[in-house]
Amino acid sequence: MLNTPLNTYPQEDILIDAIGDDHVGTAYDTPLREDAFKLDDATKVEMIEKHFKSIMEIMGLDLTDDSLKGTPKRVAKMYIKEIFSGLNPANKPEVKLFDNKYQYNQMLVEKNITLFSNCEHHFVPIIGKAHVAYISSGKVIGLSKLNRIVQYYSQRPQVQERLNIQIANELKKVLNTEDVAVVIEADHLCVSSRGIRDTGSSTVTSEYGGKFLDYETRNEFLKYIA
Ligand SMILES: [Zn+2]
Repeated sequence: MLNTPLNTYPQEDILIDAIGDDHVGTAYDTPLREDAFKLDDATKVEMIEKHFKSIMEIMGLDLTDDSLKGTPKRVAKMYIKEIFSGLNPANKPEVKLFDNKYQYNQMLVEKNITLFSNCEHHFVPIIGKAHVAYISSGKVIGLSKLNRIVQYYSQRPQVQERLNIQIANELKKVLNTEDVAVVIEADHLCVSSRGIRDTGSSTVTSEYGGKFLDYETRNEFLKYIA
């Protein structure tokens, strides 16, 4: 009777808490199973609705209450269609490139891109700003596509370091250049609303490629976003 499921693996529990609170990520690619998209979205919404309802019931909430009864469905739709829609490659923004007609060969910076993501360790929000820059290799991209690429990778369970790298890698790929910079500054609600409960700190990550590894180019970018 001592080995109840909750205290069978105390070591494992400690490790689970530590990985979450230390926010240790394990891979550049989002860890997805091979069969991740075998189920269609409608089926996923239905299944999540059922499971989320169970979670609420386990917590003792009365699902016959008018305010609560639609919550499982709302959460399920929000997960699949909104805040985790970036898991599905089908939702990846299509990017059209344009010729760099003005021969603008300086750095292009788009700063303060609104960023909403969710921490993969706690499933609570990460809220921040992304600043991106590139130097054209002959083609340019519509400005709003920069926002969409940030949004797409944000709409996954994330760790900030991985999110930063995924955005930078995608920009390098679509723009066909290594000359890309991405800086993210964000507040993690798992740090402010629980755990250490620090509301004053934020996390800054960065990724620089190509010419941005050069001290002066990087500083020019940092000056623009300061
Ligand atoms: Zn977290």
